[in-house]
Amino acid sequence: MTIMSHTQYNLTQLAEAMMAHSPSGRIKAALIDMDGTLYDSMPNHARAWTRLMHEAGIECTDREFFMLEGSTGANTIDLMIRRQWGRPATDAEKRDMYALKAKYFVELPPVGPMPGAREMVDSLIARGITTVLVTGSGQNSLLSRLDRDFPGAFPADRRVTSASVTHGKPHPEPFLKGLELAGVSAGHAIGIDNAPLGVASAHAAGITTVGVVTGPVPCEALRDKGADVVFNSMCDCAKILPELLDIMETLKKRTL
Ligand code: MG
Repeated sequence: MTIMSHTQYNLTQLAEAMMAHSPSGRIKAALIDMDGTLYDSMPNHARAWTRLMHEAGIECTDREFFMLEGSTGANTIDLMIRRQWGRPATDAEKRDMYALKAKYFVELPPVGPMPGAREMVDSLIARGITTVLVTGSGQNSLLSRLDRDFPGAFPADRRVTSASVTHGKPHPEPFLKGLELAGVSAGHAIGIDNAPLGVASAHAAGITTVGVVTGPVPCEALRDKGADVVFNSMCDCAKILPELLDIMETLKKRTL
C-alpha cells in the first residue's frame, strides 16, 4: 500500500498492513539501509559505476545502477561482466574494479544526509527503538561519517556491511544478520530501504518492510518486491512512520 493522502483512515489501513508481519504491534528494532536512505548518495554511486564500466568497455546506463542498488559491489561487477563478455568476473576484477569505483565515488562532490533521514532516525531512537545499519556497501567514505551525521544511532556493533555477509541483497542474509545484531525476532522489527533489492531482502527475512522513494525508482518497483508501506519521500517517512507505529500499538491493545 502506498501513502497517497494522509487521512486517518489511510493511516489505520497502513498500520494494519504493517501488522501482517508484526502481529504483536510492538516494533523494537529498525534495520536501516544507508545509500539512498540515510544518504543522498545514489546519483554519485551511479555516476562512479557508469564511469568505471564505460572505461572498461562495458555498456550500461546510470539508471541500471539505481535498480541494482543494494547488491554488493562484487555481484554488480560479476553481473555486468557476464552480460558484456559472457563469463564470470575473476576475483581480481571484483577487487580491483570495486577499488576503482570507490575511488571515482570519492572524487565526486561530497553527498549529504538524505533530507528527513536524521528526523526519521531521531524519532525512532526517541521511541526506544534499536537502530541497526543494513547496507550492501563497503564504501568507507560514507561508513566513516555515520557517527558524525547520525550520532549514537549506528555503533560499530550495530552495522551490517558488505564485509559482514556472504550473500548481498536481495538475499535475506543482510537483514537476518541485522535482526541478530538487534537481538529481536522478525516480528518485532521493521526494515527501511529505498531500493527494490533491499526491499526484497527485508521482505524475504520476514520483516515488516518500509519502502521509501528517494530517486528514480518508482513506488511500484518497491511494492512489487514486497514493501508493506511505501513513502514518497524520506521527509514523509519521518513524519508519518511514528504515527503508524503508535496506531499499530493501539490496534493491538484493542484486540487484547
Ligand atoms: Mg539504498
